[in-house]
Amino acid sequence: MTADSTKLIRLQTERSENNEHSAPIYLTSSYVFEDAEDMRLQFEEEREGHIYSRYANPNVKEFIDKLAAVEGAEDGWATATGMAAIFTFFGAELSSGDHVVACRSVFGSTHRLFTEIFPKWGIHTSYVDFDDLDGFDRAIKKETKVVYIETPSNPGLDIIDIAALSKITKARSVLLAVDNCFATPILQKPLLLGADVSLHSATKYIDGQGRTLGGVILGSEDLITRIRAFARHTGPALSPMNAWVLSKSLETLEVRIERHSSSALEIARRLEQHEKVNIVKYPHLQSHPQFEIAKRQMKLGGGLITFEHKDGLEGGKRFLDGLKMFSLTANLGDTRSIATHPASTTHSKLSPEERSKVGIGEGTVRLSIGLEGVEDIWRDLEQALK
Ligand SMILES: *Cc1c(COP(=O)(O)O)cnc(C)c1O
Repeated sequence: MTADSTKLIRLQTERSENNEHSAPIYLTSSYVFEDAEDMRLQFEEEREGHIYSRYANPNVKEFIDKLAAVEGAEDGWATATGMAAIFTFFGAELSSGDHVVACRSVFGSTHRLFTEIFPKWGIHTSYVDFDDLDGFDRAIKKETKVVYIETPSNPGLDIIDIAALSKITKARSVLLAVDNCFATPILQKPLLLGADVSLHSATKYIDGQGRTLGGVILGSEDLITRIRAFARHTGPALSPMNAWVLSKSLETLEVRIERHSSSALEIARRLEQHEKVNIVKYPHLQSHPQFEIAKRQMKLGGGLITFEHKDGLEGGKRFLDGLKMFSLTANLGDTRSIATHPASTTHSKLSPEERSKVGIGEGTVRLSIGLEGVEDIWRDLEQALK
């Protein structure tokens, strides 16, 4: 079997007549036709061709082909951002009156889609707790088209058993879509576990260096045909330049993820021993409530850790202010280590009760462990916890 790294490095668009080693960037908005008949055939989709970069581009295709090969997808579609991937998927699949079942803690903008944007079109969403598989089954009704989950979740790092949930969605004939952003294509392959759709914000680990935004939808040929029909005319296209950057990033994804994961596991173990720390959540720590599932469906634990500061809201805030090397920024999955304190920042508008429903305590801190030396990362955390 070919290793993920090999696929991500060696799958490449064909060389041009210049015989370049590294793929060139195809900065062109359109493509020329041989003659009038060729143009007719391409427009009728009777002959394959690029036509226009809102539809297709060699750099975008290379990026998609690599991810599809690694996640075991028949095909994929790339978008300008992760949210564009999520919106395009739902836009292609849902009609007015349809219903979505989702796990309760989803990415903030996805939550806004469910609660503020889709209801305008008569599309409603029911939330279910991540650990209530029967609850997912009960929430599915006649109008339900999609069950949508994030695992590991943000910021609680809760784990949902994809294989077990896919048995339910298959029996009820609804699509199972997984936001696979936190796990990355290296650690978790939702389609091979029974899901129908895998979605990514490529902005996070796939770029991994905090430079560009991007997204991708992976699934069956049938699904991507429907996505293509929607996306060609709504225009969420990934730019050739960003596709090139992201495709280059994929060449180092596996080594980066291995390092993110080994450093994060080491830091999580040390945090567990620290007197200022209450609870540490990391998928591959024995103490994680879904450790067995995480071991089964994720190759390594990934780069994210959440922990609860003993001194609550004030402790969490003081901790952030005490950090010297960690960046305070809204991103994650970067070479640079990043810390956030949801209760005093991203989720400060929610009441403590609402926060606790999505797994955010007053002292919850989320760490995205970067690629700096692990001892330097630890030194910064230790002095900020003092
Ligand atoms: C960041 C993120 C998104 C959205 O991606 P963008 O590229 O910022 O649009 C979606 N889901 C998860 C889990 C994310 O972390």
